[in-house]
Amino acid sequence: MNRPRILLIYTGGTIGMIKDFQSGALKNFNFSELLKFIPELQLLDCDIETQSFERPIDSSNMKPEYWVLLAKIIEGHYAHFDGFVILHGSDTMSYTASALSFMLEGVSKPIIFTGSQLPIGDLRTDAKENLITSIQIAAMREGDVPKVREVGLYFEYKLYRANRTTKINAEHFEAFASLNYPPLAESGVHLVFNEHALLAPKTACHLKVHTQMETQILLIKMFPGLHEATLSHLLSWEGLKGVILETFGSGNVTNEAWLINLLEETIAKKIPVVNVTQCSGGSVAMGLYETSVALKRIGVISGKDMTTEAALAKMMFLLGTGISYLEFCQQFETSLRGEIS
Ligand code: ASP
Repeated sequence: MNRPRILLIYTGGTIGMIKDFQSGALKNFNFSELLKFIPELQLLDCDIETQSFERPIDSSNMKPEYWVLLAKIIEGHYAHFDGFVILHGSDTMSYTASALSFMLEGVSKPIIFTGSQLPIGDLRTDAKENLITSIQIAAMREGDVPKVREVGLYFEYKLYRANRTTKINAEHFEAFASLNYPPLAESGVHLVFNEHALLAPKTACHLKVHTQMETQILLIKMFPGLHEATLSHLLSWEGLKGVILETFGSGNVTNEAWLINLLEETIAKKIPVVNVTQCSGGSVAMGLYETSVALKRIGVISGKDMTTEAALAKMMFLLGTGISYLEFCQQFETSLRGEIS
């Protein structure tokens, strides 16, 4: 059997930096020389090719234009590689990885995002383990079928479904969590897969890449003291195409009339309003408390147990497809890529 071919794509972020021993400063290192800097990669049983964004970015500068660029790089190389590893800054990795899970329909090969909290050139770096295990996961096959056939995120000994993750810590090596879905695999002495958690698409699926992402949307976090005037101002934006409300607990908001009226006016314009919880784990359950009954009545869409990152990406993706308002409501509440339990 041929050795698996892995494409390593560097978008930017801490992982790709190395210390200049003369100046002591961190600088981006040349990815075409990756094997020279990390000779361990030569021990892996796969062939690695690398590609880098022309100008690597800190992931806080990430935007849908770059998601499209990434999706197109994967599309262009999809037939020639067995797996993809994307090196990305951790700050917005969950957004990009969630977006790619929707943009790449019919994925049947591993697409693994990873990064690190310390640069690859740092003595105590977490980058090497994250990178090496991500490549191993991307290269794993059972017979001639890839072990992972979805978009994943590997960080600090755990492989997660990408669209279930959130960055929860800016300092710890364990920077990500997937509170509503178990890890797909855990790496210790052995790499142990959670077989039941993996998506199992047909291997003969054809990749369809969606590149229209609607960005005229709002993500509004509820807080005690939010002014009617503030919300009214935001919702009166003429170009508004969709709203995500980050609500309290299991999807609750104040039941003061002004809030319900403003949302009802928005929905009457066929602008979808989605409810996700601002809790890191758990689900929206509209109707459970008196403070969410009205949301259900006026037609607010339930984000169920989706992360905010996944809900945002899904809204941009679904609005980008140009489907009707009713189809949007129906599809949003349906799991398309394993993003809802
Ligand atoms: N600010 C960096 C970034 O997200 C942090 C990291 O790489 O983890 O690009």
